Amino acid sequence: MSATLSPITSINPATGEVLARFDPFTQDEVDHALDEAQDAFVAWRERSFEERAVPMRRLASLLRARVDRYGRLITLEMGKPIVEAKAELEKCALGCEHYADHAARYLADEVIPTNAKKSFVAFQPLGIVLAVMPWNFPFWQVIRFAAPAFMAGNAAVLKHASNVPQCALAIEEVFHEAGFPEGLLRTLLLAGSQVEPVIEDVRVRAVTLTGSSDTGSRIAQLAGRALKKTVLELGGSDPFIVLADADLDQAAKVATRARNQNTGQSCIAAKRFIAVESIASDFERRFAAEVGALQVGDPLDAKTQIGPLAREDLREALERQVRESNGMGARVLTGGGRGDGKGWYYRPTVMADVTEDMPVFNEETFGPVAAVVRVRDADEAVRVANDSAYGLGANLWTKDLALGERLARRIESGSVFVNGMVASDPRLPFGGVKRSGYGRELSSYGIKEFVNIQTIWIGQGTQKPAGPQSE
Ligand code: NAP
Repeated sequence: MSATLSPITSINPATGEVLARFDPFTQDEVDHALDEAQDAFVAWRERSFEERAVPMRRLASLLRARVDRYGRLITLEMGKPIVEAKAELEKCALGCEHYADHAARYLADEVIPTNAKKSFVAFQPLGIVLAVMPWNFPFWQVIRFAAPAFMAGNAAVLKHASNVPQCALAIEEVFHEAGFPEGLLRTLLLAGSQVEPVIEDVRVRAVTLTGSSDTGSRIAQLAGRALKKTVLELGGSDPFIVLADADLDQAAKVATRARNQNTGQSCIAAKRFIAVESIASDFERRFAAEVGALQVGDPLDAKTQIGPLAREDLREALERQVRESNGMGARVLTGGGRGDGKGWYYRPTVMADVTEDMPVFNEETFGPVAAVVRVRDADEAVRVANDSAYGLGANLWTKDLALGERLARRIESGSVFVNGMVASDPRLPFGGVKRSGYGRELSSYGIKEFVNIQTIWIGQGTQKPAGPQSE
């Protein structure tokens, strides 16, 4: 299988330097990994929640203890500013602890009285879950799926993005060192084109993808053909609505963070800024000033707020979106071009006079480019927010909290944050609607995605069952 495929190559996006090359796995290597994962699953599923929580807590400790090492690796492979890379690892540790603490409660049997002596719902693990993951939060995206999946008793094989193979191997290593059984999580170094037979393999029971909507559609087709359950966490173009009574200073500061975290490469980054006409100029001025002051530079420098984009093609896509929108009448308030140096830098950008037909509005912009659209009032703001193929998160700014709550219910997205920045939190469900995908991660909802919701009905055993009629 690997003979005709290019090596999987780790490149430092800040310099263009090749860091490492790996041969993609052969079919034999994939088979072996699946055998190991299946063997590990058979033993792991018998362990109690308390037993599963031991390596999960140890994993949290190891991620904290190795924050410098893994933080540097994240930054070197995908360019995230080092402060954010370290924060990602702390978030991973919290995610592990959340599921170590709460999995038993989330998956406790649910007794449902019927005419049986006892009837209840039990939550059984499914087996091996194939995780196809993106590079943008290379540790967190994996933990977000793996912590609940493992606490539920499953095993996993990880096909990580091809630009973060060293992170993928480090994740396998740290799970093993935390004390999870050998093989319970196996990294498969594969190109996207090698994933199809893994989805079809009978040992793989379900697939989770975090990635673009196009890949989501492809994986859903393959998994549908093989009748495998999927969870799809896909792209987003989150609106950030600023109403007339919003605290503009605060809104502009949070807007800057919401757009530019992870150098703008986040599915839940705010991308479309929808400002009510009466305050739009004021908001644009404050927002552009904040964005213009962001520190662009070497992502290993703790002062850097904006690093390079993770891949060259991502910068080219962003350039096209800005160029075409500019040609259609959008105005660049700040930024609007490549940064200096060898790496794949793009200067943080704010565009005004954006309309709904422009690429910076109707496509996902995966980098530090903000599009500001003006609207008459709150009703038009909701209409424009919903005028998107995506539906992941949404931000809304108003001092009228009752209005904020009413409007939030009308927005078509998996989450709405009023006077705050959309962020994932292990206590709350995370996911999208429309082209942002389906299924949920995190919270009690996330841990129930990869389980068999099993009805168990127990009669008296001493008389003819008076149970449900068979169908
Ligand atoms: P992508 O191309 O879809 O890649 C994501 C993963 O899918 C990678 O592991 C990739 O492997 C794999 N893949 C690509 N094509 C495949 C195929 N035909 N069959 C099987 N696997 C395939 O995504 P990206 O553009 O690099 O990442 C950014 C996207 O992810 C954005 O749209 C972003 O919004 C989305 N995202 C969503 C969330 C969320 O939670 N909703 C979170 C983060 C990112 P290779 O690297 O080998 O191609």
